[in-house]
Amino acid sequence: MNAPRDQYEATNPRTRYPNVRPEPQTQAEPGLQSEMRPVPDLGEATYRGTGRLDGRKALITGADSGIGAAVAIAFAREGADVALAYLPEEQSDADHVIEQVRAAGRTAVPIPGDLRDRGYAQTLVDQAVEELGGLDTLVSVAGKQRWQPNVEDLTDEQFEATFDVNVFGLFRLVRAALPHLHPGSTITTTASMEAYQPAPDRLDYAASKGAINNLSKGLSQALVERGIRVNVVAPGPTWTVLQPSGGVDPESLPDFGSSESPMGRAAQPAELAPAYVFLASQESSYVVGETLNVNGGMVTP
Ligand code: NAD
Ligand code: MG
Repeated sequence: MNAPRDQYEATNPRTRYPNVRPEPQTQAEPGLQSEMRPVPDLGEATYRGTGRLDGRKALITGADSGIGAAVAIAFAREGADVALAYLPEEQSDADHVIEQVRAAGRTAVPIPGDLRDRGYAQTLVDQAVEELGGLDTLVSVAGKQRWQPNVEDLTDEQFEATFDVNVFGLFRLVRAALPHLHPGSTITTTASMEAYQPAPDRLDYAASKGAINNLSKGLSQALVERGIRVNVVAPGPTWTVLQPSGGVDPESLPDFGSSESPMGRAAQPAELAPAYVFLASQESSYVVGETLNVNGGMVTP
């Protein structure tokens, strides 16, 4: 895939990355990024760090693939040590990211598990704190999305599972992390364009993203007096394994992102990472309760 020299190179954003136009493809959830055609760009060849997160200790969920993986690579190159959370079946994708973090000279702590397990948030935080020697940056990127064309076919089980991962799992993680966070720490969550423009075939997912946006803004108000800043990134269409593993109608993939976004193409995960770097760094010291939309021009309220 042609890509810019690094994230600072000035180019036409419309053609910075090719319009992927992926052929129809399906995988079982959660899918492996390595089996996608084409494989998304995590910034492996392009992300250039400049010490913006020197010495930070970050816990990132969904760090094996897609946006979370691009964030892990960017954070490491900016000087952060990283604990990576992901599902056990995603180990091969995670190995690639762990290798990238270590190649940047930083510590990578792999902690696989399922955010639906009631005890996982606590063991995840405990192990991250132990192996990183503390925690000051929590980045929640993990998310579940299932395409369901008929409203009547959206089951209680699916609705509950989506909220269990996307909303309750996030809250359990924040609650477990709080005793370790301190003034200067940050929490960054991941909503979606869907929080504002819900797609009719993703009602549970879109509602969960609206809940994440709202919960994060509420948390920002609760935690700002402790000097902990909470913010949100809301991606638009981004080429990741979430889509071909049941996230969207496989037949719609060739058009993915190109008709939806005014930019005329989907984003690559590498284009999302700088938003997370900004919100975790002290450059954003006065930014609190903000939703940073990275969606190619899909105007939000
Ligand atoms: P992805 O599939 O690469 O990443 C999602 C990750 O969520 C998986 O890798 C997995 O590790 C994790 N996850 C899912 N269920 C889990 C569970 N039960 N326990 C633990 N971890 C679990 O896809 P992505 O697009 O990079 O998704 C990252 C985030 O971005 C998600 O929150 C998603 O909703 C959000 N998002 C994506 C898009 C897009 O177009 N790709 C758009 C808007 C928002
Ligand atoms: Mg994955």
